[in-house]
Amino acid sequence: MIDRADRPLGAVRLAAMLNGEGERLKQPAVFRALQELFVAGKLKRVELASGYLPPGDEAAGVALCRRCGAYAALEGAIDASELRAIARRRDFSATRLVIEVEGLCETCSAAGEE
Ligand SMILES: [Zn+2]
Repeated sequence: MIDRADRPLGAVRLAAMLNGEGERLKQPAVFRALQELFVAGKLKRVELASGYLPPGDEAAGVALCRRCGAYAALEGAIDASELRAIARRRDFSATRLVIEVEGLCETCSAAGEE
């Protein structure tokens, strides 16, 4: 179901969709299943959307439309050395970097406002 979605899905929405297809699942069970799949590397988490996507290929990051929730994988390499250096100066060794961009998709941009 997450494979077919056009946006990141969280536990609340996924539970509603599954229950709409005749399943009888409670949100905590769906939340736990999503967490387990994420830990196993079978889902990618989108923090801005509090949702999940299929892991896909190694995109540099994700852009998310704050109005309609559409997302786009950001292709290309990002030089994160400055971010790692900043973390190191605060005595943190970065093990995972999350690159997410919030904005408006082309459709919402064309519709006007901001
Ligand atoms: Zn949009």
